[in-house]
Amino acid sequence: MRAERQEESGTKLIQRLAERIWLIEGGKGGRYPYAHSLYIRDGGGVLIDCGSDLQEILRLKKEDGLRTVVMTHYHEDHFFFLHALPDVEVWASAEDAPALESFETLLDRYGLLGSEWETFFRSLLSEKFSYRPRGIARRISDGERLTFGRTEATAVIAPGHTPGHLCLQFPADGILFLADYDLSDFGPWYGDKPGSIEEFRRSTKRLADIGAKIHVVSHDIPVHSGDIGSKAAAYLSHIDRREEALRGFLRQPRTMREIIDRRIVYGDGRPGPWFDYGEWALMTKHLEGMLARGEASRHGDRYAARG
Ligand SMILES: [Zn+2]
Repeated sequence: MRAERQEESGTKLIQRLAERIWLIEGGKGGRYPYAHSLYIRDGGGVLIDCGSDLQEILRLKKEDGLRTVVMTHYHEDHFFFLHALPDVEVWASAEDAPALESFETLLDRYGLLGSEWETFFRSLLSEKFSYRPRGIARRISDGERLTFGRTEATAVIAPGHTPGHLCLQFPADGILFLADYDLSDFGPWYGDKPGSIEEFRRSTKRLADIGAKIHVVSHDIPVHSGDIGSKAAAYLSHIDRREEALRGFLRQPRTMREIIDRRIVYGDGRPGPWFDYGEWALMTKHLEGMLARGEASRHGDRYAARG
């Protein structure tokens, strides 16, 4: 296995998008628990997210240098290997920095505190994903210019996924790193406590309208060239599909437990607390929207669609 990985390292796992901007493909094709990273071979070495491949990251650090990690947001598949880089400076958006600095804040952002899944995720995030509180050396705001040696990037804060989700635009090379606006077949995640369906839609459209030549995402197919307008529309249509499925299910009054067990987002055959939480987190956003618009009502512990 080790030999196979070594062979791959020069070809498949590292892809040169530009002379000094490289893609490190995540394990399992960039599917959770992994996420693709960017490596900027400039400014002492800069890694954008660190959930891709620990061996590649450590090899790059040794051979080419690594001075800074820029976190696009605080999710576990993006900080997965941060614990292995204790001597590297970490940058993040001002809005997302607190969740990287405090475990309780992270759990609060996930909406887990006091929930039935709190114990499960406390151990998952601290043990499997080795969460360690990390001081953020630089807090980044929307529109800020970041300079890594001769390489310049502009910060695009795209709320909805997380409140400070950071995308990075590299104008000289026409590259835009979309991170978890990932255009995947799974569809969007907006289930964090500060997550928002409407903000997610707005951010996706704003990102597509930038009109970059090369779009890089954190999961599945890493590189999307040219206009992403139709891909973005297909990606956002998962939101409507989920809401229609929920509306249909609520023709009869249902409890939250029944909604979770219906597996509207993940589909059948996905038991356990990880999927329970995901269904709860996303379906809660749809229910809140439907209740606010008068499209659903609540009676005791049951929800029902109106009309
Ligand atoms: Zn994420």
